Amino acid sequence: MLIAIFAFAWWLVKRYLRSLRQDAPPAAVSEDMVRCARCGVHLPRSESITREEKVFCGEEHARLRD
Ligand SMILES: [Zn+2]
Repeated sequence: MLIAIFAFAWWLVKRYLRSLRQDAPPAAVSEDMVRCARCGVHLPRSESITREEKVFCGEEHARLRD
């Protein structure tokens, strides 16, 4: 009986550890993606330029106005 309880507890721990690994997203996906207000291209927030509360893909698109 004790062995059965121990085996069940061990199975729970293993299942818990496996679920932790699956929940952790890869580093590349966890970064915020933003969309250029001019050309619509998607890029990581760290590579974008923000002007007047709009997000652009580069200095050139941030400067150009319609
Ligand atoms: Zn752009």
